[in-house]
Amino acid sequence: MRDVIFIVLLIMVLVLAACAYRAYKSKKTIGRALSMLLLSLIPPIVGNLIIINSTTYLPALIGSYIYFIGMDLIMATLIKFTIDYCSIKWENKLTISVVYTFLSVDIIQMLLNPVFGHAFKLEEIVVNGLPYFRLVPFTGQTFHRIVVYGEFLAIIIVFIIKLLRVPRIYMERYGIILASMIFGGLWETFYIFSRTPIDTSMIGFGIFGILVFYFSLYYRPMRLLDRMLAGIASELPEALFFFDAMNRCIWANDPALDLVGLDESRLDMVPGELDSIFPDYIMDGTEWQTQQIIGKGRDARFYYLEKHIAKDDYGRFAGSFLSVRDNTEAQRELEKEKYSAAHDSLTGLFNRAHLYQVIHNIVTSHPERKYSLVFVDVNDFKIVNDIFGSEFGDNALKMISEWIKESMPSAVAYGRLGGDTFGVCIPTDDFDEEKMSRELADFKVKKGNIEHHILIHLGVYDVSNPYLEVSVMFDRARLALSTIKEQYQMHIAHYDDDMRKKVLWNQKISSELLTAIEEKQVKPYLQPLVNADGKVVGAEALVRWIHPVEGILPPISFIPVFEQNGMIVELDKFMWRSACEILSEWKYTHPDMFISVNISPKDFYFMDVETEIRRITSEYDIDPSMLRIEITETIMMTDIENRVRMLENLKRDGFIVEMDDFGSGYSSLNLLKDMPVDVIKIDMMFLRKSNENPKARTILRNIITLTDELGIESLTEGVETDRQYRILSDMGCKLFQGYYFSRPIPLEEFEEFCKNRIA
Ligand code: C2E
Ligand code: CA
Ligand code: CA
Repeated sequence: MRDVIFIVLLIMVLVLAACAYRAYKSKKTIGRALSMLLLSLIPPIVGNLIIINSTTYLPALIGSYIYFIGMDLIMATLIKFTIDYCSIKWENKLTISVVYTFLSVDIIQMLLNPVFGHAFKLEEIVVNGLPYFRLVPFTGQTFHRIVVYGEFLAIIIVFIIKLLRVPRIYMERYGIILASMIFGGLWETFYIFSRTPIDTSMIGFGIFGILVFYFSLYYRPMRLLDRMLAGIASELPEALFFFDAMNRCIWANDPALDLVGLDESRLDMVPGELDSIFPDYIMDGTEWQTQQIIGKGRDARFYYLEKHIAKDDYGRFAGSFLSVRDNTEAQRELEKEKYSAAHDSLTGLFNRAHLYQVIHNIVTSHPERKYSLVFVDVNDFKIVNDIFGSEFGDNALKMISEWIKESMPSAVAYGRLGGDTFGVCIPTDDFDEEKMSRELADFKVKKGNIEHHILIHLGVYDVSNPYLEVSVMFDRARLALSTIKEQYQMHIAHYDDDMRKKVLWNQKISSELLTAIEEKQVKPYLQPLVNADGKVVGAEALVRWIHPVEGILPPISFIPVFEQNGMIVELDKFMWRSACEILSEWKYTHPDMFISVNISPKDFYFMDVETEIRRITSEYDIDPSMLRIEITETIMMTDIENRVRMLENLKRDGFIVEMDDFGSGYSSLNLLKDMPVDVIKIDMMFLRKSNENPKARTILRNIITLTDELGIESLTEGVETDRQYRILSDMGCKLFQGYYFSRPIPLEEFEEFCKNRIA
């Protein structure tokens, strides 16, 4: 019996020491106090071990001291532990110091026992033939018991109060420690009163220590967690189903019951219902998640299913739970967002970014098929908006988008590129150019009783490399379109590679122009103007660009480019200046010879032509009548009143105004009576036609006589033969220009040419 108890107590000491070490290392706040408590449980047990094994007086005595003082230590650490464990905010320092004072006094009086013998002595008895030492208590021992029991009682009261105050769920946390404490205390008391020599109650200390260790470090209130989780689960908006290892439904929250249309008593039917609602639902022991769409079109509902499994401590499948979230609203919202990110809000067509994406996908996924991209542009759409208002404009855009849909039914993609431009992708063979041209020739938009013709142009790019960026393809289609932008009869233009070359060329010469002027690569050539006697009376200044790489460039190769980008202004100012420079030389050599300069209709857009001409002539001090001004009738197409006033001003100040290319455009004789011009230059096409066509010849003659009667001088361009010269002279024409006399030539050659031919 002794040996068994000895071994049990020894094991307990080791276990307690190990637990104390764990507690000390633990990161929990209770760790320190717990560790101290566990350590303090060891001395009384060790004391008892010694007592049990003592056969002589002295070791038994030492064992007793260790035991009693150990009890005081237990009380001290137990108080600290109780304060921490029960989270007592014990501000009353006095109480604590009183408690510790009593403990200290007790320890001291125990230690004084060898001197005064007032606490206890040991008497030897024989049990089962072996000697034992039994305690004989005196006053000091009574004091010791009062102190220890008193404090023990106080601690138990603290625990009881705590137990009564905390929610039921926490009760086991305190209850079990309290119970083990009371149990240990009673056991010990039993020993004291039974006066049996072997103190088995130390086993109770050990058990108490282990319980305390477990509850304060490892125990989690599972029932509390369960309740909390169940609470959370039933509050969740998503449907939750819990299944056991046999896949039987054991619990479902309210949304879940609503979903399957069952009540709590019919949980057995849950798997079957889920099966019929979600056809792809798999009831097995794996984890998965899936999106399921139930129903079609507008009524479709989107569910997100997530299946989780639970495993027991050995990793075996213990059950599972399924959550079902109704994602329909979020999904609809997402689709709406997707739609508006991809569509133009006005017309409902794809927007540019999305259209590019779609077209790219189509053309690259069928590289063997031939597609064309069509760039659709409304001419002067701004004017439509300005005149009729933006509501009408919006409506016009909607009508255009409708027209695109209807007239290109086999288009594989179309959308609004922005503003008044649209893009279409259509199989090349399905693009019916004739039909489109016909429809565009008469395209009207209507709203209420307003009806307006709008001019639409299409630029077409036939996709040759499907991997080219779609934006570049549309740039090319737009480039094709830009070649017919101002035209009213042509509606459709196709891109070809020359166009691209041309654009590059245009960019090149535009960037070179200013240096070319500075370096005198650009020069006026002079073409003689001759009278009926064959005498040179003046010259037309025609520009030439002696390009270091390209050779001599004729005006037709660069003037339209500069007319488009506005650089024509630089060129013309230079030409006028050059003409004035020559005239200022001629003041002394050929004082009666004049020079005609060309004024582009586009000059009027970019500068104040009248002021500019006055400034240059006065700068060179030129008699205005020596610098003749060639304008074309197109300048009269817009802003007629101001243009007429300007011409009148110039004429009044002595400038001579010539109308160039008369008869080439819309010219009507009618215009002649309104336009204050001094000379008309009859276009060379007239002369050419009059060669074969007697009617044209009659018209030519009539123009000459008519202008004569109006007091306007006539000049015929493009005279190439002696015969033409004679016929025109006979008709009464006064001035002539043409290769028959001379091509346009540099100044020095011209001056050479003039010798002997000056009027
Ligand atoms: P334009 O003002 O009608 O000039 C007459 C054009 O006819 C010149 O062409 C001239 O070389 C050509 N020509 C003259 N006689 C004959 C002939 O007997 N037969 C034929 N087939 N052609 C003849 P060029 O120099 O190539 O100029 C073409 C056009 O470029 C000019 O037509 C004019 O509109 C424009 N241009 C020339 N220089 C300037 C300039 O400095 N400024 C502006 N704005 N335009 C200019
Ligand atoms: Ca001219
Ligand atoms: Ca001309």
